Amino acid sequence: VLVLGCALLPRGDASIPRGRLPGHVRPVHYELEITPRFDLDRFLGRVGIRVEITRPVRTIWLHGRNLEVTDATVSTDAGTFPATWEQRTRDGVAALQLEEPVGPGSARIDLRFASDVARDLRGFYRVDVADDAYGFTQFEPISARRAFPCFDEPAFKTPFDLSVVLTDPQLEAVAGMPVAETKSSGGTRTVRFATTPPLPTYLLAWAVGPLDRLQAPPLPATGPRQRAVPFGGVATRGRAPELRYALERTPPLLTDLEAYFGIPYPYPKLDVIAVPDFGAGAMENAGAITFREYLLLIDASTAPERQRRLFSYIMAHELAHQWFGNLVTMAWWDDLWLNEAFATWLGFGSVGRVEPEQGADVILLEQVLAAMAADSLASARSIRQPITSNHDIRNAFDAITYSKGAGVLAMFERWLGPETFRDGIRRYLSAHADGSARTEDLLAALSQASGRDVAAPFQTFLTQPGVPLVEVTTRCAGDGPALSLRQSRYRPVGSHADAGALWQIPVCARYAAGGAVGESCTLLSGREGRLPLQGDACPEWVMPNAEAAGYYRFTQPADDAAKLLDRGRDALSTRERVAVAHSLAAALHADLRGAAQVYSALGPLARDPQRAVAIAPMGLLRTGIEQLADEDTRGAAAGFARRLYRPQFERLGWDSAPGESGDERLLRQEVIQFLTHVAPDPAVRAEAARRGRLYAGIDGAPDEAALEPELVESALAAAVQEGGAPVWEILLAQLLESDDARVRGERLTALGQVDDPELVARAQRLALDPVLRVNESLTTLWYLSERPAARASTWRFVEENWDALVARVGSGRAGQLPGLAAGFCDTARAEQVADFMAPRIQKTEGGPRNLAGALEQIRLCAALVEAQAASARDFFRTVSARR
Ligand SMILES: [Zn+2]
Repeated sequence: VLVLGCALLPRGDASIPRGRLPGHVRPVHYELEITPRFDLDRFLGRVGIRVEITRPVRTIWLHGRNLEVTDATVSTDAGTFPATWEQRTRDGVAALQLEEPVGPGSARIDLRFASDVARDLRGFYRVDVADDAYGFTQFEPISARRAFPCFDEPAFKTPFDLSVVLTDPQLEAVAGMPVAETKSSGGTRTVRFATTPPLPTYLLAWAVGPLDRLQAPPLPATGPRQRAVPFGGVATRGRAPELRYALERTPPLLTDLEAYFGIPYPYPKLDVIAVPDFGAGAMENAGAITFREYLLLIDASTAPERQRRLFSYIMAHELAHQWFGNLVTMAWWDDLWLNEAFATWLGFGSVGRVEPEQGADVILLEQVLAAMAADSLASARSIRQPITSNHDIRNAFDAITYSKGAGVLAMFERWLGPETFRDGIRRYLSAHADGSARTEDLLAALSQASGRDVAAPFQTFLTQPGVPLVEVTTRCAGDGPALSLRQSRYRPVGSHADAGALWQIPVCARYAAGGAVGESCTLLSGREGRLPLQGDACPEWVMPNAEAAGYYRFTQPADDAAKLLDRGRDALSTRERVAVAHSLAAALHADLRGAAQVYSALGPLARDPQRAVAIAPMGLLRTGIEQLADEDTRGAAAGFARRLYRPQFERLGWDSAPGESGDERLLRQEVIQFLTHVAPDPAVRAEAARRGRLYAGIDGAPDEAALEPELVESALAAAVQEGGAPVWEILLAQLLESDDARVRGERLTALGQVDDPELVARAQRLALDPVLRVNESLTTLWYLSERPAARASTWRFVEENWDALVARVGSGRAGQLPGLAAGFCDTARAEQVADFMAPRIQKTEGGPRNLAGALEQIRLCAALVEAQAASARDFFRTVSARR
């Protein structure tokens, strides 16, 4: 249903389409002209839409939101007829009303329109940088209708002829296609772009302003592509030189993807555009990919490792979309995973092949494990969730679609074998190029390529929410060693989720027996199953999820679990050790093991040389300190956590060694962050604050050499916590003086990590202060909401300023605000949050589901404390006394 709720509909009007537009008027081509008038804060436009009509209609339904349509006609062979335009629902279902029916046959709709330029980062929106005005677009999922009248659904793929009229000689225009022609007359220039291949409305894009360009060498012809492709970058005035890093590192990723697909890059040119204020991370517009500046303007000498890695992953993700999403588009938003799960999975795959030193397979696993946390909620979506309202479209852009989807793809890739899987993908893309497809099309292609029924097991992961929990027990009596398997839905203690779900799970176990390591696999499709092991010897240890490739959690009897940790650990891969660490956390949260048992197993993991394994216990320790410990045991809990990470700190120190890996740099960042802010070590914390002051120049000239780039955020936060208001003010002034997204972001995160009530209040007010960019405005609130001392007052701030916050960030991001309450841990608070949100949440996009998730997290936290606090406190008291 494409309307927000029945209350918004005019009463008694049953004719407004609820859901998708009726299919009997179908667009086949758009001619669109846009004239930005930043001097008036307006834009004007004309659109001519050729349509095919299959039966006579007097009302043509389409989309347009807050557009003033001044001229409307419909032309057919019989003549040109006036029509009236009326927007009929708040979210932009519009009716074009004719006196007499038209069709069946071809027709052309001509409309003139105008609108205010938006400020909330959607549709065609304005960003001011210094004295310059810029206009950018963000249309996915349903904001093209804010920029021009259109049939705003992904199944309608048509060519577009776009022109942009520039009324100021300083302005330049960029879009997804190359410029076909520029015409000047009377002080205006009309830039006409080449006709696009068939595209849905959400992939169209343009940018206007005093733009700066850096052209890179064309992408040379490759195996599948005969022609070179012009390639360049676009930024705001004067900033194009900062695109160099991105432009140098993009071509190998594109070449890798072309080789994987065996299909040429589908568009005649590629531009990457750095947008100074941008709601998402990046957007895969065909031929004109837009990014936050942080991801594209990178100073190779000062960029922290995280920024470099984000660049690679997000660039590869957006490039993968040029095939998955752009060349072949999901027919409707319930299949968004065909875009996003694939781009996530392929993006990591591509980075893994092109930049192997980044350990992309481990980072993907970390994302999948994070998605499992979200997927453990009873309120979780399924990957392929039916769309029953516009809320559902918004909610589809979440960790379930992206990361669970990517994890499920990786699992079935391993099940079928990478070549077979790739052949299925190539088959699917070739069959639907320039068109639309659905999940069933992909699963059929994979089944054909493999000669197996892929659809049935795959669908069990697509259409039902939740993480399978596989109980794995080693059996050595009887006819040969085997594992007995039992599946159910993983449920945290206190969960009301239905345990009865059943999946068809590709389960692979690795184990050591008789001096060798073996692997055995089965498809577990019933509640229970048996997995015979090779040989006759009883295994010394069993890893129930080989390579952590399966999208499931596992639990073993205490005996088997101890053997895996003690004897198996050295034989496990990094991914497997990470999965073992997370299975301990999962056991704590589901009360499958007592807290004492879980915490006592963390030592060897925290000391692991691999970053991803070493940091895996940090979340558990933070839960222990902040939630499970009480006032009497909090110090002991923090002391225990501190001692676990002290050896890593001693090894890594404050400064990087020459030739050190990116993972070592990231591990240093995590360990120092932990010892400065979560389980504070007085010496580490004091040194962080000292270096933070030097770096920011609190007492003299700034000294950038005082800190590794990865340590800046932790150190600035320590400096502001120790130094109070004077430091806070200096950092705010530095933020406002800088146009650099990284410099601003580093200051902003420090400004939000405060406990002093006066500074907390000032950090909260930044959310409404127009000195920040819109995409920065919620940063301090998120940081404050993670601080036990600031959480309650921050939620009060949200309640007291609700309408102003929604106006500032738009209804889309406002729908995420319930997440600011998710860190609370008492049920009375959940009721209070629910009472406040009840009358408000429907008006935010995606808000109702986000609220349900936040309330569930609060209640689950309370249940966890109820179940595990006694065991945890005992443990913390005992280890502290033992020292
Ligand atoms: Zn994406």
